[in-house]
Amino acid sequence: MPTLFVSHGAPTLAIDDGPAHQFLIACGRSLGKPKAILVLSAHFEAPTATVTTSLAPETIYDFGGFPEELYNISYPAPGDPDLAHRAGELLQAGGISTNENPTRGLDHGAWVPLSLMYPDADVPVVQLSIDARQGPAYHLRLGELLRPLREEGILIIGSGGATHNLSHALRAPQDDPTPDWVIRFREWLAEAVTDDRRDDIANYRALAPDAALNHPTEEHFFPLLCALGATQPGEPRRRIHVSETYGALAMDAYLFGPPDADTE
Ligand code: ZN
Repeated sequence: MPTLFVSHGAPTLAIDDGPAHQFLIACGRSLGKPKAILVLSAHFEAPTATVTTSLAPETIYDFGGFPEELYNISYPAPGDPDLAHRAGELLQAGGISTNENPTRGLDHGAWVPLSLMYPDADVPVVQLSIDARQGPAYHLRLGELLRPLREEGILIIGSGGATHNLSHALRAPQDDPTPDWVIRFREWLAEAVTDDRRDDIANYRALAPDAALNHPTEEHFFPLLCALGATQPGEPRRRIHVSETYGALAMDAYLFGPPDADTE
């Protein structure tokens, strides 16, 4: 299976038509349905790596002040406790301790993109937490340890944001022009990802232009490192979507590994 990184932008991505909304619909069709999906979302952080083991994860509305319509969406994909246990075992074998959470549902970093990619909600979904305080190397390592799942038909998705200056975005209209500092960062990132300079990406805070401005906090960046960590050196890696919303939120997506899906 390939590995995917998507930017999820604002929760209204689920209901507002636009380039990223259309991209996710096309991306799901193009990739086809995997056996199950493991999502590492910016909106699930825990001090110990935690997998969700619920058989029927509920839809979490972890946002406020959005249109009523959003709160009426439910994404009733089943859970997959076997996959959750397997992911936990792989992490433990690599020296990372894990927890299981039998009650947590799917946050909007997971269900918003999945509701567009797999609207039938018939592919089982498990979430694994990230922890921004643990830095880039930890998130690359999570991906690396999860890599065997790809051979088992599991689609690993990192869901965050290619850029994520939320306070700037909140002041801007949805179609605000993209600031230069966003473009500089996203293009640096695209080049570093496609060249597989993962050491540079891990060190992005020092090397990338305007890194701290684009990611004042890092939780929306690290899901990309998880997806990247799950790839082998030399595998194909492509930016398969470029758009932006609210000026400062780049909605770029990356596909790692086979197949050469036609998702542009
Ligand atoms: Zn988010």
